Amino acid sequence: MIRIYSGKCLCSGVRFTAVGPPVVVAQCHCEECRRLSGTGHSIGAMFRKDGVVLNGTISEFTYQSGKGSTVTKGFCATCGSPVFGRNTQSPDHLTLPLGAMDNADGLQVEVVIFDRDKTHWDQLGENVAFFATQPDWRPPE
Ligand SMILES: [Zn+2]
Ligand SMILES: [Zn+2]
Repeated sequence: MIRIYSGKCLCSGVRFTAVGPPVVVAQCHCEECRRLSGTGHSIGAMFRKDGVVLNGTISEFTYQSGKGSTVTKGFCATCGSPVFGRNTQSPDHLTLPLGAMDNADGLQVEVVIFDRDKTHWDQLGENVAFFATQPDWRPPE
């Protein structure tokens, strides 16, 4: 079903829209995604590039993938939020982070890649406490 996905960075300086459905939604545990996100993985939806509009001031960082392609990551130049990924292996597509979307209804992870690099702390143990919001807690004096 055709649907428009919209999103923005933390400071709202960068906004995007994308015509869905995405080609695939992938969770990636590679080292680059771990360092990029500051957490254990990224989750991104890949869209056809001609259906994506990005607005705002975007900084780019480029590196070589293990397969020899060039990967470009786009960030908001003000707040540093990741806003897109591009890979010369798929030149007609862009990947947008689900965490930046206003509403990702209907999207779910379809594939997990670099599962071998998944960190032990990126999964919850049995004794983890859950709070619906930020608890009223401070570090002990
Ligand atoms: Zn921003
Ligand atoms: Zn990755």
